[in-house]
Amino acid sequence: MLTVLRHIVMRFTAHSRFADAVKFLVSEVKSAMRADVCSIYLLNPQRSAYVLAATDGLNPAKVGNAVLALDQGLVGFVGRRAEPINLQNAPSHREFHYIQGSGEEAFHAFLGVPIIHQRRVLGVLVVQQSDARKFDEAEEAFLVTLAAQLATVVSHAEAVGDSALPQISDANRVDACFVGVPGAPGIAIGTAVVIHPVANLEAVPERQTDDIVVELLSLERAIAQVRQDISNIIEQFSDSLPKQELALFDAYLHMLDENALAGDIRAEVRLGQWAQGALKKVIDEHVSRFALMEDPYLRERGADLKDLGLQILAHLQNIRQKKTVFPKDTVLVAEEVTPAMLANIPTERLGAIVSTKGSGNSHVAILARAMGIPAVMGAIDLPTYQVENEVLLVDGHYGEVFASPSKKRIELSRELIAQEKVFDEELMQLKDVPCVTKDGWRILLWVNIGLSSDLTRSLDRGAEGIGLFRTEIPFMSQDRFPTEAEQRVIYREHMAAFEPRPVTMRTLDVGGDKSLSYFPINEDNPFLGWRGIRVTLDHPEIFLVQVRAMLKANAGLEGILRIMLPMISSLSELTAAKALINRAYDEVTEEGFEVKRPSIGVMIEVPAAVYQARALARESDFLAVGSNDLTQYMLAVDRNNPRVAQLYRDVHPAVILALRDVARAAHIENKPLGICGEFAGTPVGAVLLMAMGYHVLSMNATHLPKVKWVIRQINRSDAQRMLAKVLQMQSAEAVSGYMFQQLTDAGLGRVLPHHHT
Ligand code: PEP
Ligand code: MG
Repeated sequence: MLTVLRHIVMRFTAHSRFADAVKFLVSEVKSAMRADVCSIYLLNPQRSAYVLAATDGLNPAKVGNAVLALDQGLVGFVGRRAEPINLQNAPSHREFHYIQGSGEEAFHAFLGVPIIHQRRVLGVLVVQQSDARKFDEAEEAFLVTLAAQLATVVSHAEAVGDSALPQISDANRVDACFVGVPGAPGIAIGTAVVIHPVANLEAVPERQTDDIVVELLSLERAIAQVRQDISNIIEQFSDSLPKQELALFDAYLHMLDENALAGDIRAEVRLGQWAQGALKKVIDEHVSRFALMEDPYLRERGADLKDLGLQILAHLQNIRQKKTVFPKDTVLVAEEVTPAMLANIPTERLGAIVSTKGSGNSHVAILARAMGIPAVMGAIDLPTYQVENEVLLVDGHYGEVFASPSKKRIELSRELIAQEKVFDEELMQLKDVPCVTKDGWRILLWVNIGLSSDLTRSLDRGAEGIGLFRTEIPFMSQDRFPTEAEQRVIYREHMAAFEPRPVTMRTLDVGGDKSLSYFPINEDNPFLGWRGIRVTLDHPEIFLVQVRAMLKANAGLEGILRIMLPMISSLSELTAAKALINRAYDEVTEEGFEVKRPSIGVMIEVPAAVYQARALARESDFLAVGSNDLTQYMLAVDRNNPRVAQLYRDVHPAVILALRDVARAAHIENKPLGICGEFAGTPVGAVLLMAMGYHVLSMNATHLPKVKWVIRQINRSDAQRMLAKVLQMQSAEAVSGYMFQQLTDAGLGRVLPHHHT
């Protein structure tokens, strides 16, 4: 039963048309359970009723016509109870309601399970049988599992307004909203371009093509490339591999012959299926045939076939990916948007980003904010394959994505976009004025930087220094570690542009969610693993090259070089890093470079560092809080996991207390104190941190003007009064509610997210 279940689920989710998917499901379930009837009833919210959406066994003419009120029949009963109902003799049950002309009178056994998505009943899945018998527990579990799969598909179909859904009203069809979490603020309307994960046969949807010739050609090319790959292997290993192994590769080549796989796939394409869909179908069929074989050797060959299929798919997708065009206002959609993807799209064409994984604190979201591109993260339910080329409206303030948005919503959003533009232009006037409170308290606003395209934006917006250069970003867009000379060029470009302002270079911070393709780290708990300073202390050769590049890049400049160490969790790490930096300094001066000694600072990102902040401050030149990681580690909430995104609160009282304690420690040791987490770039964060006595707030260029606008309109004494109140509060909700009210009362409501409409 388990293999049958897996088979049904796989094939079911592969159907791209809802109508085909449900039809497939009812007939498969009917035969798998040896039942006489399987039907799906779906809720029509407008008519407050269940409508028969698919059936195998009842009168097919009733599909779309048979309607049961919410309180009618066993279907209504299952829906109300939101639990399975399993009956031996349905017609004798008090809730039974006979639908005229359905042919239902002949059936006694009844098993109905609710289709529930996110706690909402969407419909009921029913099997019936003429014998008066009770379905057993295994059958019930089988149906419940399928209903859970069905729920996701129904909710997707509902959201994209699938016309095959029975009588979903226009009111429901428009404004289909997928909720994620805010990634980067702003609203954008554009065309979805979906980047699919590479070579995942299971995820390939069925799709009709109108250009069979093109599909046949790309198939031919892909197969030829795979043949070539295999021939290369045979040639390369002809001397070293045993004959038996080599024969296997020959067998692969035969499998690709016209009278084997190639011919079958081609035949599917000729029937109108696109090449990837045809490939998947043929491979699936062959693999399931092998899976049934007794002989273990032959069963193994199924795995070979699958592997071969993947190789063809990879070539097919490469062919397609090369052709990807990015229209104006592209909404980039992917299961997991990566920094590398962003680097490959012309910035002027990128309108918004939607990722079904990740959350607002993922590095991609941080990059999106720096680029000023609205982004929604963790939109788990968005059916990526179905929104390709569709118009999407992305609201980065609230983390919402609207598929097929209504005219009204588009108009409203255009208005908000225009308002934001006007405000942005107004803010640009503040570029050259200092960031000082009404009562004369001066703080510094610096930028977080990573992509070179941030440079001009940062200077245009009046950044007074670089507070965080995420050096791993240039490392990510390479296919090997960059050399000292290459790094030096990139660093110099930034330092020269900011001259004579200070530049804070963070040493390589990989691990966690930031990986280098050429330096893979596989761990069960990457955020608690080999990350940041832990990696570079274990690889002094990488660390030294980087520090030397920083020092040399700074040679001859007035601007101070500040070197900042990520993920410090004990003093010994600071001591070891300082020793390496000193060594690099000696080497560079020996080489004849005239370089100043850099300032060395510690990032406070781990709770341990909060408690040792004084000692760390004493041993270093400055402290900078990385509140993104500090929040994640204080609250034990993975910053990337959308499921717990609601728990990730930078205004959590524990986080606020930690930030205040670090400030005290730095003040006692009389060391400069900065913060470069995202909290610094929020109006609430900026006001509270200024009150605590943080000297430098470092943030992305996008947020900088707004923060300056807020700070310039407030008294430090008022901010300190607010902080005193906040320090008494016991929940994140209380803090944000209070601060929103205070800022609104102070006439600063314009920088708070717009009110929901
Ligand atoms: C932080 O953790 O707050 C920080 C600034 O570093 P990153 O976001 O790059 O981890
Ligand atoms: Mg960090």
